[in-house]
Amino acid sequence: MPIYEYLCRRCNTIFQFLVRNPSTDTSPRCPRCHESDMMERVMSTFSVGRGSASFDDIADDASLDGLDTDDPRAMARAIRHMADEMGEDLGPQVDEALTRLEAGEDPEKIERELEESGLDIGAEGMSPPSRDPGLYEA
Ligand SMILES: [Zn+2]
Repeated sequence: MPIYEYLCRRCNTIFQFLVRNPSTDTSPRCPRCHESDMMERVMSTFSVGRGSASFDDIADDASLDGLDTDDPRAMARAIRHMADEMGEDLGPQVDEALTRLEAGEDPEKIERELEESGLDIGAEGMSPPSRDPGLYEA
């Protein structure tokens, strides 16, 4: 059974849900405010609450598929492919980072800039969501 992460914009908390039927489009109810209208699925790899997106983490996943993780272009392709399969929108920041990876830029530099832009978001008053440690059934 897949585990999906949902961000509740109402209470700004990320919850993990055990999803019995991933093909349905409905969002689970927030365990805290018992509403589903503000629930938004997040891609765990890039979730804000866990800190910055790390290409190393992704490389670990990708290497399971026998991918050459020393090749930034192959990594970028793998990340896009993973997102496609999961039906995820990576967001403009990550999309731009991937485009730069594909262009042959230094992954560590891009990663650092992603981190910095994440900090900027916090400075504008949008506090990063907290993470609920529980596992809920959707
Ligand atoms: Zn909530």
